Amino acid sequence: MQGLSVRVRGIVQGVGFRPFVYQLAERYGLTGWVRNTNTQVEIEVDGSEEGLKGFLHDLLDCTPPLARIDAVESERRPASGFTCFEIIESQLDAGWQSIPPDAATCEACLSELRDPGERRYGYPFTNCTHCGPRFTIIDSLPYDRDRTTMSCFPMCGDCRREYEDPRDRRFHAQPIACPACGPKLWLQMADGGLAQGDPIEACAALLKGGSIVAIKGLGGYQLACDATNPEAVARLRARKRRWGKPFALMVPDLEGAKQLCETTAAEINALLSRERPIVLLKQRPGTSVAQDVAPGIDTLGLMLPYTPLHHLLMRGFAGPLVMTSGNLSEEPIAIGNREAVERLSDVADAFLFHDRDIYARYDDSVVRALGGAIVPIRRARSYAPAPIHLPFTARRDILACGAQQKNTFCLVKESKAFLSQHIGELENLETLSHFESSLQAFRQLFRVDPRIIAHDMHPDYLSTRFAHDYPDPSVMRVVVQHHHAHVVSAMAEHGIAEPVIGVAYDGTGYGTDGAVWGGEILVADWSSFKRVGHLRYAPMPGGEAAIRKPYRMAAGYVWSLCAASEAEFEAFIATVPVGERIILRRQLETQLNTPLTSSCGRLFDAAAALLGVCREALYEGQPAVELEALADPQVDDMYPFDLLRDGDGWVVDPAATLRALWCDFRAGRSISRVAAAFHNTVAAFTLAVCRAVRDEHSLNRVVLSGGCFQNALLTQRLLEGLVAAEFEVVTHRLVPPNDGGLSLGQAVVAHALTAGD
Ligand code: ZN
Ligand code: ZN
Ligand code: FE
Repeated sequence: MQGLSVRVRGIVQGVGFRPFVYQLAERYGLTGWVRNTNTQVEIEVDGSEEGLKGFLHDLLDCTPPLARIDAVESERRPASGFTCFEIIESQLDAGWQSIPPDAATCEACLSELRDPGERRYGYPFTNCTHCGPRFTIIDSLPYDRDRTTMSCFPMCGDCRREYEDPRDRRFHAQPIACPACGPKLWLQMADGGLAQGDPIEACAALLKGGSIVAIKGLGGYQLACDATNPEAVARLRARKRRWGKPFALMVPDLEGAKQLCETTAAEINALLSRERPIVLLKQRPGTSVAQDVAPGIDTLGLMLPYTPLHHLLMRGFAGPLVMTSGNLSEEPIAIGNREAVERLSDVADAFLFHDRDIYARYDDSVVRALGGAIVPIRRARSYAPAPIHLPFTARRDILACGAQQKNTFCLVKESKAFLSQHIGELENLETLSHFESSLQAFRQLFRVDPRIIAHDMHPDYLSTRFAHDYPDPSVMRVVVQHHHAHVVSAMAEHGIAEPVIGVAYDGTGYGTDGAVWGGEILVADWSSFKRVGHLRYAPMPGGEAAIRKPYRMAAGYVWSLCAASEAEFEAFIATVPVGERIILRRQLETQLNTPLTSSCGRLFDAAAALLGVCREALYEGQPAVELEALADPQVDDMYPFDLLRDGDGWVVDPAATLRALWCDFRAGRSISRVAAAFHNTVAAFTLAVCRAVRDEHSLNRVVLSGGCFQNALLTQRLLEGLVAAEFEVVTHRLVPPNDGGLSLGQAVVAHALTAGD
C-alpha cells in the first residue's frame, strides 16, 4: 500500500468533479477522501501502485465535460491507513472560486426529457452537474443552491436523494429540479389571460399561427416568431423598431441547420458545442426563410436548442424560429417577468413565463469562421465570464471600462482576466445601469477591488466618464488609445509581449491627434505604440451623419482625394439626395462639422456608397457587410493604390482605388467583381505596409484586430497574403476582434504601464 496527495486547480467545482473522483477511487480500489476548498480540489488516497497510477491517469484523461484543469500537483507519501473513500466537508471561506458558465443540455438529460418512463419526461428545467444554468442564476459565492435563484424551490425527496448520492450525475447539482419540486411554466397572453393546456404546445401553435411570443430563456427573454412567415417577421421588425439588422434563428437540429446553410466541419462543431452560440453561416439559395430575416446579406445566424425548454419547443414547432433578444433596439435584454410585461407588451402577443428568476443578463453569443478559425463576434452566454489566462500576475486588481459600442468591461485579478458578457451600446441609461449592475456582480463574485482603472481616450464615452466618476479617489486611472488596446487584446490572448506589427482596422477610435482613427498600423508592445502607417485622412462631412449616410463619406473622398475635376464631383453629387447637395458642398468647403478620419470602416462605407450598395446604414457596419456579401471570392482583380511616405511612417492613399472602382461601376462591370477587387486591394495595401514596416523595424509578427476583421473575405485575403510573405500572423480566438474585446487590451496596457509603480 502507498499514499498519494493530489491538488487540482481550474474549473473543478460545480462540474461534478468530486463524484467523478469518488467513482475513480472506487474503480481503482482506493481509500481516502476528496474535498473542495476555495482554490482547489484536494484528494488524499491510499492504494496499490497500479491503482494509484491508473487513478492519476484517468483523473487527467477522463475529466467531466464542464471541468477545465489548469494545474495538478501530486505527491507520493506513505499510506495513511484510510478504511473507505468519502467526500468530506468543503473548506470554503469567503474567497474566490472558479465555476463554469452556463452549458447546453447534455445528452443524458436530453434522453430523460424524451423518455416517457422518466420522471423528468417533458420537464423544461431538467439539468445536472454536466449541464444547465450557472452564472445566469448565481447571486454570490460560494456556489451553492442557497445563493442561486433556485433557493426558493425546496428539493423534493427524490431530488434530495439524487443530490446527496455521489454515484448520481446530479450529486451536488445546485439547480437540480423536477416536476414535483422545481420551476413551472405557463403561457400568458398579452391581455393577461392564461392559455389553456400544455404551455409549450400552445406556444408552438401560436407561433405556427404567426404570433410573436416572448420566451423566458436562460440569460433573458427572447422574442420568437416563425422565420418562414414574412408577415410575422415584418411585424416583429416594426414592433421591435429594429430595421435592417439581421435576426438570428433557432433550428430544431443539425439537419435543420444544413437545410438552410452551408456548413464546414468547424462550423458544425461550433453549432454542436455546449456553448451553443449563434453561428454565422453562408445561406443556401432558395430556402423557406423570409427575406426580411437577413436582408441584403448572404449569411444567416443559426443556433441549436440549448435548454430543455428550447428542445421541447423546437420539437413542437418543427421549423426555423426567429429567436432574437427580448428588448427594443439598443436596450439591454429583459430578464424579469414584470419587466418583460412592462417592456415587451407592445412587442409580444404572448409570454412563455416561468418562475425561476434570472439573476444576470446574458445575450446569446455569436461566432463566425474567420480565416479558418471560429472567432467570437459577441461573447456572452456560455462563454463569459470564463477566465482568460494572462501571461503575468497582476499585483493589484484592474478594471478596464471598455469602449462605447459593443461594450464589455474586464476585471483582472492575479493572472486571470474576467471579461464581462456583452453589455451593448453604452448610449443610454438602461445600458449604463446594466454595465454598473454587472460590474457590481462581478466584483462580488470574483472578490475584485480595482486599484487601477483603464479607459479609452475618447472624452465622451460613457465608459470614460464612468472611470472619471469612479467614487474611490485612491484608484489610479490609465488612458489607453483605442487601437493600441485592440492590438494588445489579441497579443494578450496569445501570451505575446514582444513588439509586433499591429493592424487595427475598425470604424471609429479616438486618435492621439484628436482625429477619428480606424485604419491603423502600429508597432506595439503592451506599454507603448508607434503609429507607423495609416489610411490618408478623409473628411467626414457632418460627422456622425456621415456614418449613417455612407454617401456623405463617399462625397468626402471624392471631394478631397479622388476628384480629378469639378465635373467628377458634380457627377457624384448628382447621386446624392437633392436636399443635401448644397450643405454637403458647404461642409466640404468650410470643413464645418467635418472631422478627419483614417477609418478603414469608413473607406468600406465610401466604396459601398459609390456602388450604390447601401444608401443608409441602419446598423453599425451595414455597408461593409453588404459589400462583402456581394463580392465574388473567386475574383482576384485588384485596383491601384498609393503608398506615401510621411515622416518615418507610411500613408495609404486609396484615391486611385476608389476612382478605379467608380469607373468600373459606371462602365457597367459586374458589381460582384468590383466589390471583390476592392476587398483584394485593401488586403494588398495592408500587406504592402506590413512589408515596409518589417524591413524598417525587423519585426515579423503581425496581429490583426478591430471590427473590420469580422469581414471573412478581407480576413481570408490578408491572411493568405501575409502567410505567403512568410509573416507570422496572430488573430483573435477568445475575444471578439470588434470593440467587445477592447477591455482586455485596456487592462493589459494598464498593467504594463503601472507594473513598476
Ligand atoms: Zn445534464
Ligand atoms: Zn424534485
Ligand atoms: Fe474599435
